[in-house]
Amino acid sequence: MNPMTAEGPPILRIRGLRKSFGDHVVLDGIDFDVWPSQVVVVIGPSGSGKSTFLRCCNALEQPEGGRIEICGRTLVDDGRMLGEAELNALRQDVGMVFQSFNLFPHLSALHNVTLGPRKLRGLARADAEARARALLDKVGLSHKADAMPASLSGGQKQRVAIARALAMEPRVMLFDEPTSALDPELVGEVLQVMKLLVSEGMTMVVVTHEMEFAREVADVVIVMDGGGIVESGPPATIFRNPTQERTRGFLQAVLMRA
Ligand code: ADP
Ligand code: MG
Repeated sequence: MNPMTAEGPPILRIRGLRKSFGDHVVLDGIDFDVWPSQVVVVIGPSGSGKSTFLRCCNALEQPEGGRIEICGRTLVDDGRMLGEAELNALRQDVGMVFQSFNLFPHLSALHNVTLGPRKLRGLARADAEARARALLDKVGLSHKADAMPASLSGGQKQRVAIARALAMEPRVMLFDEPTSALDPELVGEVLQVMKLLVSEGMTMVVVTHEMEFAREVADVVIVMDGGGIVESGPPATIFRNPTQERTRGFLQAVLMRA
């Protein structure tokens, strides 16, 4: 979507984001906007700070500098983070899907999806279950509602994890290498669900090495290296005409592996 025509504040506005672990600077002044219905794909070598960046956007990490606004509300400003209650409210706007699924192993697929809405939103059990069943249906898993995570394939687990994130009705979905832990034959079913969300206008930030997916659905591709954004632009430009040597090097390495 064209940012110039987007209404309202950006879903995410990030300015000068800095994060270190000890004396290791991991994010070194990130500036970044995500507009409603935009799909942003983040690529870059291992260790470049992609996961840390997503985790900051969900307040799983506390940055020491810079600012993050979510839908016009300030999550963190120069190291000052919201209090726990406000943080939990704001977090509900930001859905997160992890490489390793992170399902609750002792809960069925259905209960994984109902837990958040029941605990954090106070939804009645029947309402939460009705919504969870609709979401499991959407990700193609209505027949697995009662299944325990251990009995599901990786692709099925990840689709439950997507349904679980959607159950909080987030304003933006963050995906951290959602298909990297999957056997190759299971990647497609997860990407298909993600494409469905794109077609519905979901705002998404996706860290992935699935270049075909990026080409197909990204509005913007961002290349990270060494804790900074090396370059960004539409996929056609980044993949065909990157201006930065570091982008060329990274793309070459990924394509050689494919
Ligand atoms: P990417 O997702 O691009 O591979 P990460 O954000 O996971 O990169 O990591 C960026 C850097 O930060 C790496 O050097 C990593 O070792 C370091 N790092 C990430 N998390 C932690 C942590 N909790 N403690 C210390 N160092 C970390
Ligand atoms: Mg990572």
